[in-house]
Amino acid sequence: MKRKHQDLFTDLRKHAKNLLLERKTPSIDVTSLEDAKRLIAELQIHQIELEMQTDELRQAQAQLALEREKYADLYNFAPVAYFIFDERDIIIDLNLTATQLLGNSRRFLLNRPIAPYITAASLQIFVEHRQQALETRSPQTCELILRPRNGTQICIQAQTIALYPLTDGIQLWRSVMVDITERKKAEEQLKESQALYESLVNILPQSIYRIDLDERLTFINETLRESLGLPLEQVIGKTAHDFYPPDLAQKYHIDNLKVIETGKTLNIIEENNSPLTGEKSIVEVIKIPILDSDGKIFGIQGIFWDITERKLAEMKLRESEEKFHAIIENSREGIMLIDEQGIIIEWNSAQEQLMGIPRSEAVGQPAWEIQNQQMPPEHFENLTQTFLKESLLKILETGHAEHFNQPSERVIKTPDGETKFALQHTFVIKTARGYRLCNFAHDITQRKQAEQELQKANEQLRIQLDEIQSLQASLREQAIRDGLTGLYNRRYLNETSERELSHAERDNYPISIMMIDIDYFKRLNDTHGHQAGDDVLKALSSLLHNGIRQSDIACRYGGEEFIILMPEVGRADAIRRADALRKEFSSQQVYYQKEALSATISIGIATYPENGTTMDEVIKAADSALYAAKQAGRNCVRAWET
Ligand code: GH3
Ligand code: MG
Ligand code: MG
Repeated sequence: MKRKHQDLFTDLRKHAKNLLLERKTPSIDVTSLEDAKRLIAELQIHQIELEMQTDELRQAQAQLALEREKYADLYNFAPVAYFIFDERDIIIDLNLTATQLLGNSRRFLLNRPIAPYITAASLQIFVEHRQQALETRSPQTCELILRPRNGTQICIQAQTIALYPLTDGIQLWRSVMVDITERKKAEEQLKESQALYESLVNILPQSIYRIDLDERLTFINETLRESLGLPLEQVIGKTAHDFYPPDLAQKYHIDNLKVIETGKTLNIIEENNSPLTGEKSIVEVIKIPILDSDGKIFGIQGIFWDITERKLAEMKLRESEEKFHAIIENSREGIMLIDEQGIIIEWNSAQEQLMGIPRSEAVGQPAWEIQNQQMPPEHFENLTQTFLKESLLKILETGHAEHFNQPSERVIKTPDGETKFALQHTFVIKTARGYRLCNFAHDITQRKQAEQELQKANEQLRIQLDEIQSLQASLREQAIRDGLTGLYNRRYLNETSERELSHAERDNYPISIMMIDIDYFKRLNDTHGHQAGDDVLKALSSLLHNGIRQSDIACRYGGEEFIILMPEVGRADAIRRADALRKEFSSQQVYYQKEALSATISIGIATYPENGTTMDEVIKAADSALYAAKQAGRNCVRAWET
């Protein structure tokens, strides 16, 4: 470097000497030593001046070199691509960004045409654009599609100026190109989504609009346009005041202000008045603030739709629900409703009273917990809570519960320890959400108590009836029995004998009659007293009673006269049995006051039908036979012989 300066200095000196010779400056007269000294001093000053100027020049040159380097850096590393072309589109110069844009090296691109990198469609545009820049001598802008070496397509924005021709007359252009592919894509996407939004918005049944901060319409969809009945150009730029009655428009204005002031979405239900038909309706409205990229509100997007039908349906539903609740609440039946999960959802006043559990404690609880509390152990000892829960949940799952079809009685123990009775009827109800149970319980405690009392009274009555019956029976016994001996009396014999006779007649069997009389009884009475006679009568009665068959009828016919009626016993049998009786009695001893008494009997026998066809006839015959036995000496048996 120093050497370079030295050479420069030598060249300058040489050049200066020549200039001096050419100028032919007159020679200076140095006449004295003083003159020489002055001249040398001036020359030295001049030399110093020159050296100082040279230094300044050198510094300026260094500064210039630095600036040039800076410029080169800026030129090469600028984010935009620079090209210089000639009229054949040959690249004369380009920066680093430009080489990157085309995907080739600087060496390769220099002095070659740019055309192969421009798509066919864009080439014509580029040529015209370059021409326009030349004609107008002002910067021109266009968008081009380039095809860099990597085969992709990029979109660029080019700004071109025509440079003033160089001294050799060559026309050059300088283009600045910026890759706008991403921006273009974003713009395309935005356009697409806007188109999609608009096509969607126009087929939606909801009314959609946008207003600016002055509440002027900037957009409405087809649904809203139709409902306004106006062409688009008569709507855009208008406000709610142009379509709706003042009070309604004012209300909309207040809503809009809320959104504008708070920047928050508003969701409300309000009235609407069709500008076309004047018809009133209820609409649900959503007002959304529209924000710019800084988050500043610049408008409102509104969506609203008619919910009149829904509101009416809701109102009707509410009305019917209220009616339903009023019916449930006023019902005298206890009503419990269980939802699909087994939770109690209804528990009316009658149910509160019946169960002794307030509604607040029952509603929301699983039914099996409340039910279990209500079950007296003696009725439900086998029903555990788990079993109840499982069976209830199964019913709610399948909707199948056969045993619910019939009303059933149940016992309830209230928390106060009171016992109540209820007639309950449970139904499975199918709803959209699943099966539910509805349980009706009618308090039958009073009826039950009355029933129980009635039952008690009945019991009492039955006992009394039994007593009367046994009394009647004993009365009847008394009527047909002889008081002293306990045998049937003569009246009973008369009653039954006809019946016996008709049976015998029908079935064709005989009846024999024994007529028994104690021998010399008068004498016994006279000798031992009437009481002793009674004892003998009793002894004979008991012998007769024990010695006859089930079908035989023994009766006391007179004072000490007895008759035994023996169905299906013929004459011979009758004689045999009579004789056995006679013997038995004669061998008996009756003790009266430690005194042994004995007596004998005489027996007369007659048999139906051979001795008579009526009972009177047969008895008469037996009596005659008895007479015969007495005549024969007593203590013997005689059968009537016709
Ligand atoms: P005979 O052998 O002929 O039958 O002689 P008898 O003494 O038994 O005569 P009769 O049959 O005529 O007498 C019946 C007596 O029976 C008359 C009466 O005093 C007696 N007598 C009738 N009823 C009762 C009675 O209920 N108790 C007692 N102790 N005696 C009675
Ligand atoms: Mg007698
Ligand atoms: Mg007698």
